[in-house]
Amino acid sequence: MNNFEEYCTKFVQSVGNKEGSVSPVVTNSAAFAYGTSEIGEGIFDGSVKKPLYSRMGNPTTSRLESILAEMDGGVGAIATSSGMGATTLATMSLLQSNDEIISIGGLFGGTYAYFNETLSRFGIKTHFFDVDEFNEIENSINEKTKIIFLESVGNPNMRLPDIKRIASIANKTGVILMIDNTITPLSIKPIELGADIVVYSTTKIIAGNASALGGCAIFRAINDGEDKLKSPRYAFLNKFIKKMGKMALVANGKKRALRDFGMSAGANASYQTLLGLETLPLRMDRIIKSVEIVAKELDRVGLNINHPCLPNHPHHNRYKSDFSNGCGTLLTIDMGTKEAAFKFLNNSKMAFITANIGDSRTLALHMASTIYNDFDKEQMKFLGITDGLIRVSIGLENPIDIIEDFIQARG
Ligand SMILES: *Cc1c(COP(=O)(O)O)cnc(C)c1O
Repeated sequence: MNNFEEYCTKFVQSVGNKEGSVSPVVTNSAAFAYGTSEIGEGIFDGSVKKPLYSRMGNPTTSRLESILAEMDGGVGAIATSSGMGATTLATMSLLQSNDEIISIGGLFGGTYAYFNETLSRFGIKTHFFDVDEFNEIENSINEKTKIIFLESVGNPNMRLPDIKRIASIANKTGVILMIDNTITPLSIKPIELGADIVVYSTTKIIAGNASALGGCAIFRAINDGEDKLKSPRYAFLNKFIKKMGKMALVANGKKRALRDFGMSAGANASYQTLLGLETLPLRMDRIIKSVEIVAKELDRVGLNINHPCLPNHPHHNRYKSDFSNGCGTLLTIDMGTKEAAFKFLNNSKMAFITANIGDSRTLALHMASTIYNDFDKEQMKFLGITDGLIRVSIGLENPIDIIEDFIQARG
């Protein structure tokens, strides 16, 4: 059985209600009345489990959080207003000035800019590495290192990490491993592979049709006995470990980031995301097959395709061994020049030209002139952005239709 079958049952069963309204109720209230002062006191000290205020939690959003936490084997989750919100929440809840981050892989442009331009203004330094620089990664870890950040698939460089090997470095050195699994929900299970925190942009394949911006951070349980997070490196977690036990990372995320930065998910977005989640396994299963069909055929007709299903890709073997449930919806086409890329995109009748990915429709974008337009040459080289690079996110269309359209678009 592939990873998807199990979730076909789980998601539709857990999103719907067996009594009353079948579709999840959307609780649009920003505030919640406590009835009595005693209950109010209990809600604030945690002894009464009722909603406090929508910045700190909302019933519709809680439903989404519990399903996503279970999906990844986490002990809890915090949904956010966007994927960048999830990354900001998860990282800012752990960092202080003079700390360091090790960032490995692709990297999504927004995350790269957040680490390199924004966190650097607060005295937080990020070291960037390619997925296969294992020795350099290990050697750069020091007592200031708080987070090893990894993308499950390089977007858009399509490089695939050896997640287990990087997790073993994180565990050996006692550092938190955080994985952005936006591209590969269900296909890759980061916590099973050794990650401590998983972040998603649910805007992409999880919601699946550009209907809702959202994100989520999922946290593993703290172990009762020994745990690498019960260490001086993470001394600030001690008080949460004492009070909340295995839920400490979730409590720390809520108190140190959600409450103070306020990147909370809206109830309507959580509802749309729950609807998307119901069909996520069906869509993933179809699209990972379509991506391979499209990549192989376009490669055969001579387009310059980057996807690890192709034997000439440097991580083809890793793709076959570690990514047996695919590596998401993306492939890239290098058209050589910006002019050729623009011509291809304007000729395509099928592709929606947009910065999104993971949609039910096929989306495409010229990278250098858009998301990376303010990056310098060296950064572009590190991120694999060439003049003619087009990123394609394959949708639910018949793959033969996509192939025919792309072949005519090439001219
Ligand atoms: C889109 C994306 C994000 C950011 O998500 P938003 O919902 O747009 O804020 C983060 N990581 C990856 C890999 C993405 O593709």
